[in-house]
Amino acid sequence: MPELPEVETVRRALVPAMEGRRIAAAHIGRPDLRWPLPPDLAARLTGRVVGVLARRGKFLLLALDGDETMLMHLGMSGSVRIHATEPEIGKHDHMVLSIDAGGPDARPAWIVFNDPRRFGWIDLFRGETHPMLADMGPEPLGNSFSATHLAAALAGRTGPIKTALLNQQIVAGIGNIYACEALFMAGLSPRRKAGTIRGGRAERLTGAIREVLSRAIEDGGTSLRDHVQPGGEIGYFVQRLSVYGREGQACHSCTTTIRCITQSGRSSFYCPACQR
Ligand SMILES: [Zn+2]
Repeated sequence: MPELPEVETVRRALVPAMEGRRIAAAHIGRPDLRWPLPPDLAARLTGRVVGVLARRGKFLLLALDGDETMLMHLGMSGSVRIHATEPEIGKHDHMVLSIDAGGPDARPAWIVFNDPRRFGWIDLFRGETHPMLADMGPEPLGNSFSATHLAAALAGRTGPIKTALLNQQIVAGIGNIYACEALFMAGLSPRRKAGTIRGGRAERLTGAIREVLSRAIEDGGTSLRDHVQPGGEIGYFVQRLSVYGREGQACHSCTTTIRCITQSGRSSFYCPACQR
């Protein structure tokens, strides 16, 4: 499932292909994904010039001329491909944007949004913000995210810290993989009560969240430079994982066997010796 680093990797790949350029044509394959798509979406996108591409949590925000913004969420299985020639449209290619060549040096591009499980979503909105973004917590790589903020947001919470980290109102953009990895790096058990994360523990966890996300964004950048073929899926790259998906294997740090438990319906991987 795409989390903050994967969405950021998609954003960085789309910037040179889309920013300042015109959408010459749009193909929308079906009227709904997770929720209904805006009516007449293809017609409303055609001819628009794309402004700044931004990201908030796991959402992509594409500013369009005429004061509208396109909001995109990749859901569970969504991915984006960029083609230099017109691609065949596959069964799960729900949106294809044909982008004008732009300046003398730029080439045309086709942007394809593919989502087999259809938990993704696209919307158009006017004005400053979208209701889906209104209650979102701070960006973990931004200045407003700090140990003080995290401790305050977790104070009094009796549920486990792992589940709290997935709550987008506490901190934006973290999903199951990076929650597990950040807790391992901070030496904190996923079962620990969220409200006990303060002081030194909050410092460790804040630093670990920043570290695992920054490292993954770097890996995404490396994959864009080295591995992504034209038309390859952007946003899925080889992650360097310490605990996620490693149940039954030895902890890299202490050789104890990595365990997997279920919390709020999600798998939590952790080292019972390193994480307290
Ligand atoms: Zn260990």
